[in-house]
Amino acid sequence: MFANGRTHLAIPGPSVTPDEVLRAMHRTSTDIYGGALLDMTVSIYPDLQKLARTASALPVIYLGNGHAAWEGAIANTLARGDRVLVLATGNFGIGWANQARAMGAEVVVVDFGLTTGIDLSRTEEALRADLASGTPYKAVLMSHVDTATSLCNPVLPVRQVMDAVGHPGLLMVDCIASLGCDRFEMDAWGVDVMVATSQKGLMVPPGISFVYFGAKALAAREGVGFVPAYWDLKPRANPPAFYGLFGGTPPVQHLYGLRAALDMIMAEGLENVWARHAGLAQAVWAAFDAWSAGGPVSLCLSDPSLRSHAVTAAYAGPGNGDALRGWVTKFTGVTLGVSLGRDPAADYFRVGHMGHVNAHDVFGVLGAMDAGLKALDIPHGEGALAAATKVIAAAAKKAA
Ligand SMILES: *Cc1c(COP(=O)(O)O)cnc(C)c1O
Repeated sequence: MFANGRTHLAIPGPSVTPDEVLRAMHRTSTDIYGGALLDMTVSIYPDLQKLARTASALPVIYLGNGHAAWEGAIANTLARGDRVLVLATGNFGIGWANQARAMGAEVVVVDFGLTTGIDLSRTEEALRADLASGTPYKAVLMSHVDTATSLCNPVLPVRQVMDAVGHPGLLMVDCIASLGCDRFEMDAWGVDVMVATSQKGLMVPPGISFVYFGAKALAAREGVGFVPAYWDLKPRANPPAFYGLFGGTPPVQHLYGLRAALDMIMAEGLENVWARHAGLAQAVWAAFDAWSAGGPVSLCLSDPSLRSHAVTAAYAGPGNGDALRGWVTKFTGVTLGVSLGRDPAADYFRVGHMGHVNAHDVFGVLGAMDAGLKALDIPHGEGALAAATKVIAAAAKKAA
């Protein structure tokens, strides 16, 4: 009952695929040795640079998901035995750390927990101790947005701490959840390697991922003795033939979908895309503030400055996270995200608001949740929808 009609996926990736992207992908494979595909593909790279605010970093496209991008970043910059510092604020930092370890790096994790973000003085301490040890970390890895906790870590302060102590390591940042949602400035923030994927803020189905290599990372590649052929950025930077860009057959349909998605982002304007995500996130937070005034439902992050604009992690009370997710899917056609990295997971859930989402989508999701809380007799404060609409109305007024 009530779920028929267009369903809405409010999980933090894969995100909603726009009709424009679906239409662009809906084609039989084209020639890959000549013709329109080649010029279209060439046009993608400058826009990928604009998206990450970099003038010079090399974006490499890998067929694969975010885990593939993680691997591509590590394979080109770290040799076996290289030491790496991981600044972790949730599941995804730990995931990248585990992968680096599996690939032979010697990994040190500083875990800042699930609610406070990267602590700069602890980071500085770790870097200073490292410099004194004589074999400095080859890289510092961090998540910009950790999708599990919905924490958005400021990147520039980490770069500034590295510079202040004179640390020579590469700064490698996971922007899989944040690119195209939360402001990210690769050049201005001094990021050496950035990883992203198609299926989150970029609105394209899962299947392609991106690793951006800055000048320092390209130089670091020269010092890595063994780079598996598929991951090697060198033939992709200067391919003798078109297929070299992809280490083989290009992902034809995905490239057309990506072109369409980039066109949408560029037409809206990246600043406007970020502002839309910020406003929608604030509407979601306002609803949670209202709910939390009268019951257990509450945001995991009390400090708004730590919250991502792409995803929101929340507590719902014992078993209520799973119950609410089940109810809204069954009765409203909305799918909410499962919790990651929290115990017990059933008490929590996540709301994705990344990519192709507008105010009416967010109002729908919040309305579905509000109905679910009532139907399930989960105590909650009233006025969540009114609080959310006020945020959007005020932001729209300001922008007009
Ligand atoms: C989704 C996500 C990943 C993993 O991406 P997959 O495509 O599932 O491999 C890694 N890091 C972050 C921050 C993510 O949001």
